[in-house]
Parts: sequence; C-alpha cells; structure tokens
Amino acid sequence: MEYQIYLSQPQQNGNEMAFVEKAFDTNFLTLFGENVKEFEQKLSNYLEMDTCLATASGTAALHLGLRKLGVGEGDYVFAQSFTFAASVNPILYLGAIPVFIDSEERTWNMSYEALEKAFGWAQKEGKMPKAVIVVDLYGQPAEYENIIPLCKKYNVPILEDAAEALGSTYHDHKCGTFGEIAAFSFNSNKIITTGGGGAVVSKDKEAIKKMRYWAMQAREPLPYYEHKEYGYQYRMSNILAGIGCAQVPSIDEYANRRREINRLYQNGLAECPLSFMPIPKGTNPNCWLTVVKLNNKEHVLPLIEELEKYSIEARMAWKPMHLQPVYKEYSFFKVDKKEVSKELFEHGLCLPSASVMTNEEQELVIDVIKKFFDKDC
Ligand SMILES: *Cc1c(COP(=O)(O)O)cnc(C)c1O
Repeated sequence: MEYQIYLSQPQQNGNEMAFVEKAFDTNFLTLFGENVKEFEQKLSNYLEMDTCLATASGTAALHLGLRKLGVGEGDYVFAQSFTFAASVNPILYLGAIPVFIDSEERTWNMSYEALEKAFGWAQKEGKMPKAVIVVDLYGQPAEYENIIPLCKKYNVPILEDAAEALGSTYHDHKCGTFGEIAAFSFNSNKIITTGGGGAVVSKDKEAIKKMRYWAMQAREPLPYYEHKEYGYQYRMSNILAGIGCAQVPSIDEYANRRREINRLYQNGLAECPLSFMPIPKGTNPNCWLTVVKLNNKEHVLPLIEELEKYSIEARMAWKPMHLQPVYKEYSFFKVDKKEVSKELFEHGLCLPSASVMTNEEQELVIDVIKKFFDKDC
C-alpha cells in the first residue's frame, strides 16, 4: 500500500552515499571493511559503551543475545507480551519456552508486579527463566527501577529489546544500557536506518567477542575452516554499515523531531476522546511512534479507514504475543483480572510519526482525526 504520509519513514542527511561509495571504491562490498568498524565505533561512542556488534538485523541481535545469556533447549524465558513478534521469536529459534508477562498502565511496558508473580510461580515449579526480555516499546523506557532489582533478586539477566528506543533516556541513562545485553534495530522504519540491520550492545566485552564469533559462522582463527560450535551469518554488510556511519550523528536530531511531533499531536488532539501513551517522570522517550488510546475501541478501525482516504497511514498497536495463534499455548502472567496489553491493543492507534513529516502534513492528520470525532461523537 502506498501512502502520502507514512507511519515511519527513513530520513537521510545527505552523507550516506559518500560512505557507501567508499565501500565500492575499496571493493569491500560484504562483510569486512572500514564502514562496519566505524559504524560500531560511532554507535558505541553514542551509547557510551566500549564496544558493540553490528548485525544483519535487530532480530539477529536478539538471537545472539539470548544465546549468550545461556538460553537453550527447554529453558524458560520471560518476555513482555505487548511487543512485536521479533522480540520473542528467537526464544523459539533456541528451542526455549516463552512465558509472557503483561504490561502496566504507567509505561505500557512490562509490569514488574506481573513479573514478580511469574517469578513466584517459577520458583515454586522449578521453572526459573534463563533471561527476561524487557522491551522499550514505541521508544518508551521500561520501569527499570523496579524491574532491575527484581531480576537481581532472582539472579536472572535482562535482555533489553531497545529496537525502537535509540536516543531514549531513563533517569539520564540511555536505553540499551539497562540489560546485561541489549539489541537495536536499524530497519528502515526505526529512528535511524542502515536499510536493514541491527546491533547488540553490552558492557561485557567478552560477551560481544563471543557473539561476534557466532555471528561469523563460529570460525576458529586457523588457516582452514574449523568449527567447534555452530554459528550464523549475522554480520552487517559493509555497504549498509556505510549508511549507518552517516546516520549516527543524526540520532538526537531525528529523535528530537519525533518528540516535537508528539507535542504537536498532544496539543492538536487535546479535545478528542483519546489519551496519549504516558511519559513518566524521569523518562525522555524518543517518541518513535506517537500512540494514542481511543476511549472507544469501536473507533479504531473506522479512524484508520478515514485516514487512509487521505492517503495517511495509521495502524493498530502491537497485538500481544499471548494472543497470537503461534504463541497461545504458553503461560501468561498478569496482575489481576484486567489484561492491560489486550486493552492497549484493542484501543491503541499508532499515528504517523516520521521525522521527515512536515508540519503541514501533520496538520492534515490532526484535522482528519478532529473531523472524524466531530461527526462521530
Ligand atoms: C523492529 C523491531 C525488532 C526487530 O528488528 P529487525 O531489525 O526488523 O529484525 C525487534 N523488536 C522490536 C520491538 C522492533 O520494533
């Protein structure tokens, strides 16, 4: 489907081709080359980390991270239910068993109260997880001040899915620094892009080294092909890393533009029967997507259709994993009767939030929504 105004499109700053041409000039078109090294350096510097590993996708980054945290056949992994399937599919790649955790109203991310319940169950049943996948959904940091102590108490590491949260901060620390290991995505709809790619980050340099080895088919440093473990072809191409080298310096600018778009929606739609994803004290989300909760869930699809008439793309919020046919057999923990993630899915609407969207385009989106509610309510 083609639109005039997209949910989330890439933005270019004009420096991309110079790096890509360098890859061609040096004839390093695939895995090895200066762009990959430079991209990893620039991203590490931005995150104030020592090193990172550029990968072929965010999903690959999550897969490597989970395996590094020791997840294998038959192990349990706790995971946020309200997310994109890519957050949790690597659990199945490794033959492990997901246990889904509901969200909380405060952040829309993992509820530490539901997590605590799940830990209690796991302890009783002898099903302690090897890892907890916490997501910074729509760029909103999860409530780490509660989640981290809880995971420490049970001695279970966090894999932070920060795919959507590049540039977000939580109590002045950047997202991607809260988990033992964290993953980013540079797919074309994220804050910056490489046209497809990801990165895995960790303070543990040895962990990065190990994941780098797996990501290159677990080749031993020998003159012939020797493999003691199985690996993957998960490295980022040198051409795509060139796009990333150009994009990293624009992270804050692009995130700030999305924050501004969020503020304009908050002002423009203040009178409409909907509420915004909350922004808790001490957090500075990148506002990757502005997501609203419509008071009446029956309005979600008609409003999407109305926007479509104006060639504007809007989408429902992520459908929680515990409601997905492929994952329905797995356990799910919530605080009480209410399923917060289900409610967010049913009432949620993602609005066009690309940093390239113009003010005029956004005004059109706001107008169409306001008119929809005028005649409908
Ligand atoms: C985009 C995304 C991913 C996966 O990233 P890819 O680069 O597309 O593999 C994982 N988790 C979340 C929450 C995402 O939005």
